[in-house]
Amino acid sequence: MTASVESVMLAEPRGFCAGVDRAIEIVERALAKFGAPVYVRHEIVHNTYVVNDLKAKGAVFIEDLADVPPGATLVFSAHGVSQAVRQEAQARGFSIFDATCPLVTKVHVEVGKLHRQGYEFLMIGHKGHPEVEGTMGQLSEGIHLVEDVADVARVQPRQTERLAVVTQTTLSVDDAAEILTAIKARFPQVREQKQQDICYATQNRQDAVKVLAPQVDVLVVVGSPTSSNSNRLRELAERLGTQAHMVDSPDDLQSAWFDGKQRVGLTAGASAPDILVQQVIERLKALGAVSVQRMPGVVETTRFPLPKGLK
Ligand code: SF4
Repeated sequence: MTASVESVMLAEPRGFCAGVDRAIEIVERALAKFGAPVYVRHEIVHNTYVVNDLKAKGAVFIEDLADVPPGATLVFSAHGVSQAVRQEAQARGFSIFDATCPLVTKVHVEVGKLHRQGYEFLMIGHKGHPEVEGTMGQLSEGIHLVEDVADVARVQPRQTERLAVVTQTTLSVDDAAEILTAIKARFPQVREQKQQDICYATQNRQDAVKVLAPQVDVLVVVGSPTSSNSNRLRELAERLGTQAHMVDSPDDLQSAWFDGKQRVGLTAGASAPDILVQQVIERLKALGAVSVQRMPGVVETTRFPLPKGLK
């Protein structure tokens, strides 16, 4: 069978969120103001194209502060950092710009506030993700990671009178709800957040896939393998019974995915730039797509201010 794509349906919203926009702008403005190199701790956002573009402009991505020379300009990535990293960077006198998404900072502030009131925490998130390391690293102890329902059965907080839940901002909304239900069953007195930590952008992109996936034969998600929210979009479509593939660049597309598939859905994770979406559309047109439709969806208006010194 050969590719038979007829139409492309675009999820709405998709692509960059306000936190990613702000983080990239912080690096670009720091480069413009202070000149290259600007050091960035961890990938500023989890996207290969974005990272390579900033590297070409003079950004140097590092994981270990030991690789940053004295007096350098240093940017913390959108995922946030632990207190230990923040304190080390301050002690070494770097000129620091914090690109931590304000919605991640909000979680950090809440953890600090409740900790001072004697709370211990269960954090729903993925082990090893830098946001989880940053949030758990707000405290030296008393914050326990639960990745799934099985972890909830195993976790052993020192006390259960003052127990609170926090989550990574880019989780599957449905998985997080299931884990939270298990937490509430085991620890009925647990304190829930007034507002969930999963961010508006993650929620909106998953909602859009829930609408789009049943209407298409295959879904393409533009996003890098390290991008948590992009992976969740692909998984969500598959759970809904729609074949889904994630691509880091248009070159990853395989024409065999579209054999016998007429309607192709297209979305992008919060860290994936629109230029890649446009390039994927061009490839799909080359495979026969004659129409490109935008689905109705939420219009996002969230914007975050830049840090002092870069406005
Ligand atoms: S995905 Fe959400 S938490 Fe992450 S940078 Fe975007 S708005 Fe912030």
